[in-house]
Amino acid sequence: MKNLILIAPPAAGKGTQAKMICETYNLDHISTGDLLREEVARGNSELQQIMESGKLVSDEIVLNLLKKKLLNSLNGYVLDGFPRNVNQAILFDKILKELNQKIDYVIYLNLDKEIAKKRIVGRVSCPKCGNVYNTMISGMSPSIEGICDNCQTALTKRKDDNEETFNIRYNTYLEETEPLLEYYKNILYEIDSSLEKQEVFHKIGEIIND
Ligand code: AMP
Repeated sequence: MKNLILIAPPAAGKGTQAKMICETYNLDHISTGDLLREEVARGNSELQQIMESGKLVSDEIVLNLLKKKLLNSLNGYVLDGFPRNVNQAILFDKILKELNQKIDYVIYLNLDKEIAKKRIVGRVSCPKCGNVYNTMISGMSPSIEGICDNCQTALTKRKDDNEETFNIRYNTYLEETEPLLEYYKNILYEIDSSLEKQEVFHKIGEIIND
């Protein structure tokens, strides 16, 4: 049984890699973003506002949602989006002790800020077939501006995929989350996530198969 944490700035592909790791190694994918989105879907509009602003939800809310998941995980897990600050890491260490669990690897998906910005600000998607394009990255734009190559539907943009929200999310990451790299330095592994996603995944495999 292996437990992993993924740390990454916005747009580094954290969620995608978490899914790929969990499918391949039969681990549970625990995404605090997903847990919070489930709460929003149940009608918690206060949470929705905080999440859309690019800021963090309170540690107490996140830890309560997380605890239930940890108790049910028997296979080992990949934490995607948690911890997001040092206080959460300290509280999490206490929970791990109580549950007699430990974290084996912390994987840091490093990504240059300008690349992250292009990935988010240029992102458009098709509301019908789900294809994703990027108007700021060469080779990823649709053939006809604003139209899906696959089904010719008009492409749409997520409300929070704009430069202002990106800057807030990125600054929140720098101030709150990046200090975790020092906190976890003894079990930290860094990967350049500007690489192609299969390559990033291969590098993660080399670390956790060791
Ligand atoms: P994510 O899907 O991981 O990008 O998370 C989406 C949003 O949910 C974040 O921008 C935060 O507002 C909130 N969120 C997710 N995980 C946490 C966490 N561990 N602590 C506080 N807020 C979180």
